[in-house]
Amino acid sequence: MQKIGNLVGIVGWRGMVGSVLMDRMQEEGDFDLIEPRFFSTSNAGGAAPQWARNETTLHDAYDIEALRGCNIVLSAQGGDYTSEVFPKLRAAGWAGHWIDAASTLRMRDDAVIVLDPVNLPVLRNALQAGMRNWIGGNCTVSCMLMGVGALYKAGLVEWMTTHTYQAASGGGAQHMRELLTQFGTLHAEVRELLADPRSAILEIDRKIIDKQRSLSAEDMACFGVPLGGSLIPWIDKDLGVGKKAGEDGWGVSREEWKGMAETNKILGRGVAGQASAQESPIPVDGYCVRVGAMRCHSQALTFKLRKDVPLHDIEAMIAADNEWVQVVPNEREATLQSLTPVAVTGTLRIPVGRLRKLAMGPQYLGAFTIGDQLLWGAAEPLRRMLRILLEA
Ligand code: NAP
Repeated sequence: MQKIGNLVGIVGWRGMVGSVLMDRMQEEGDFDLIEPRFFSTSNAGGAAPQWARNETTLHDAYDIEALRGCNIVLSAQGGDYTSEVFPKLRAAGWAGHWIDAASTLRMRDDAVIVLDPVNLPVLRNALQAGMRNWIGGNCTVSCMLMGVGALYKAGLVEWMTTHTYQAASGGGAQHMRELLTQFGTLHAEVRELLADPRSAILEIDRKIIDKQRSLSAEDMACFGVPLGGSLIPWIDKDLGVGKKAGEDGWGVSREEWKGMAETNKILGRGVAGQASAQESPIPVDGYCVRVGAMRCHSQALTFKLRKDVPLHDIEAMIAADNEWVQVVPNEREATLQSLTPVAVTGTLRIPVGRLRKLAMGPQYLGAFTIGDQLLWGAAEPLRRMLRILLEA
């Protein structure tokens, strides 16, 4: 295979995923290996960020000629940008490598979902076969597979349900700001009552719910309803629009649909053109819920295993799978200390805890896992794919 050049166009570097990506690339010395060219959708001609080496200004992210000059384009800009620019770039004859955090291209046959600690053989085969589109997986799916991928690799999973608790930052920078602003608004509403230890708790409670119910459209511009002090059991589009009860997709959110589709695609199961396409997909289903956490997606998992495996063997298998996974003893104190978004945020650790056999029988396993969705769920697989390409 011909060596891939190192002129890398970077789009979406100041967003939530992009900022974390820039931090990680700097920490790992990735900028030493590339000649970066920075793009912007909103500030072309403005000053390039500190990581730019030989260029001082930002290129227009819609300038196909400027993008065509890059060997690799790394985008964390979002789906609308990919939908608009990617087809034009390919139509203009660009044969470079496109690495992307957005979901737009994920399920196409000419794209691979990147998560190398889980699917390096799938990535290597695809690279050999001439694949050029490398797409980061859904954040919840990637974090889940980093935690419990060992069970899938061992062929132990008959089916899995996942119920998620997803952070506000999953929606991007503006969503985090909205959550914090809502918390501030709610606190301001009862500040004086809180300061008085004799105030009536039901009065505080009533003032808070009244405030939540009267937030303005501007206060809820991102989430549409209050998230501070509440939760939202629907993430992303409604796939059931126009469908009848029982029809495929009815009552399913797009985030929930991704669970099964992407898990199987990452593992190379049931996907046309990949090595083990003849293997049927493993059922994965459940509910995805937005909660008022800042960062990290948490999930409660239930597995039906293909056979009864002792719990300590399962723990050992999970712990040995990769260097980031960490089995947390299923005890109260260890759980409180190590299995919360606050404990995990900003780290590459993927704790898996609450592991126990469930009351339904010895083949039913429960688990709880957390990952910083901006790291393993977004930025990290992208920068590692960049490395794989540069080292190919
Ligand atoms: P984001 O924070 O909204 O950033 C996307 C773009 O918005 C930025 O590159 C920037 O573009 C523009 N922007 C507008 N106002 C901004 C502000 N106040 N601060 C920073 N940027 C602002 O979106 P994101 O969460 O990074 O998501 C990017 C892509 O990654 C999406 O496709 C998303 O689905 C995917 N993804 C996200 C996560 C996650 O947890 N957030 C996880 C996995 C995948 P300009 O500089 O060009 O103006």
